Amino acid sequence: MDEVKVRFAELLRGKGLELTEAHWEQYETYFQELVSWNEKMNLTGITEREQVYIKHFYDSLSLSFYVPMREVATLADIGSGAGFPSLPLKIMFPHLQVTIVDSLNKRIQFLNHLVSKLGLEHVRCIHGRAEDEARKPMLRDAFDLATARAVARLNALNELCLPFVKPGGLFAAMKGSNPEEELKEAAFSLQTLRGEVEAVERFELPVEQSSRHILLIRKTGNTPKAYPRKAGVPLKQPLMK
Ligand code: SAM
Repeated sequence: MDEVKVRFAELLRGKGLELTEAHWEQYETYFQELVSWNEKMNLTGITEREQVYIKHFYDSLSLSFYVPMREVATLADIGSGAGFPSLPLKIMFPHLQVTIVDSLNKRIQFLNHLVSKLGLEHVRCIHGRAEDEARKPMLRDAFDLATARAVARLNALNELCLPFVKPGGLFAAMKGSNPEEELKEAAFSLQTLRGEVEAVERFELPVEQSSRHILLIRKTGNTPKAYPRKAGVPLKQPLMK
């Protein structure tokens, strides 16, 4: 009996998600590749099997508890690192057309290898800065859903992510325990980049019971021409009044 498998399946069932054998094989391959490549490059500080399943896979899937994934066709994952949250979501929701943008080429190499090993279709991994990529007509104001986990504070993150979202689409920022301060300091950047907070969802990560938040931000119009600013500027000088 594989306890990690039983526990993971139970947790997902509690959220209405059925873990099939095919999903399980893909998650296991993901885990093995992650740990093996992590010996050669820095992908994650979390390598213990159950921890990877909870803190990376389940945490990534938590986005689907609050966003109806079956209504989402195109997903942009900004600063995806080792593929979080988009690749665990892609395994569970194979219809998603995923675009990953990350500025570190080594991580993109890992992701390209992983995507082919998992046999995933309609996943493109772009090596670049979000600020530059969001200027490309194919990617600008184009996605149903953009997301990011552990990339930057919200006032800067808005400028990295909202430009990818089409008017009417969603930006879902995956945050840790206390987003209130970040939300306050992000009011001006939200307004400037045509974002409106629609909901703040809170949940507990199983096992360690640490709290997580998902900020759901609706895009209300096209991105103003001046944004995003040059690469590096959003992080150095976040939009503030
Ligand atoms: N989202 C992943 C996770 O939750 O495990 C990775 C988080 S890691 C701390 C942040 C990632 O964002 C890194 O892989 C880094 O290369 C990427 N990143 C930082 N600034 C970026 C930018 N301006 N454009 C694209 N990627 C960026």
